[in-house]
Amino acid sequence: MIRSNHLYIDKHKDVMVIKLPHMEATGLVNHGFSTKYGGISKGVYESMNLGINRGDSPYNVEENINRFCDAIDVSADTLVFSDQIHESEVRVVQSEDKGKGFYRTSDIIGIDGLITNQVGVTLTTFYADCVPLFFLDPVKKVIGLSHAGWRGTVKAIGPNTIKLMEDTYGSNPNDILVGIGPSIGSCCYEVSTDVIKEFEKNLNHDIIVRIVSRINDEHYKLDLWEANRLLLLDAGIDNKNMVVTDLCTKCHSDSFYSHRSMGNQRGSLAAMIALKTTIE
Ligand SMILES: [Zn+2]
Repeated sequence: MIRSNHLYIDKHKDVMVIKLPHMEATGLVNHGFSTKYGGISKGVYESMNLGINRGDSPYNVEENINRFCDAIDVSADTLVFSDQIHESEVRVVQSEDKGKGFYRTSDIIGIDGLITNQVGVTLTTFYADCVPLFFLDPVKKVIGLSHAGWRGTVKAIGPNTIKLMEDTYGSNPNDILVGIGPSIGSCCYEVSTDVIKEFEKNLNHDIIVRIVSRINDEHYKLDLWEANRLLLLDAGIDNKNMVVTDLCTKCHSDSFYSHRSMGNQRGSLAAMIALKTTIE
């Protein structure tokens, strides 16, 4: 079983959900990050696979999605899926986008992050080691959710999401709560020189020295949590408004699907967030 000092681990029937305490405390959102627990899928997908294109039975995935939605108190017909191509484009979505990617075909293509200010629209992104970034502006009542793999991180998808919230809804970065969810930690994330070169090309030296540690001439450890945290600080987020995961998906591959641990024979985790339709 997993434990965290930073994240809240909730259980609804058999469905285990990871939540961000500071976002939960606002009472403004329904949100969560999934685990392997509580679904009906079998084999490499056992049991809570939420990815519809991984080769799992569509019936099982739909049941899993319904169970996860039930656990975080959103309706499955309100989901809007991102597309996730490991880039850094973020899109504004609206009520009329509900169902895209799940119940109907989607025109949301080449998009790794979503934002909205409309209640009852459930932003949804998928994971197996990449970093989920949750955003909530409790003042303007705007949410965001972005998928930050190493490519998205180096291309600044976090700051891009903040910028779109500012430009579209007038959010002040100083008000925005950020959550960096379960994903691969620097403990397990070994990368080669070409990845480090991309970081050195795009990020300043002060950040590089804090996120890269050398193993040998060809191998390095990379800290995507700290990279995203530092980039978001630079984008104007207040450190006290950020919660950073202490759960590594590879260290805890019994509880999370991990691409580094399982390769392509695996299910997908999901992050979801929606503004509540009724404020408690
Ligand atoms: Zn680890």
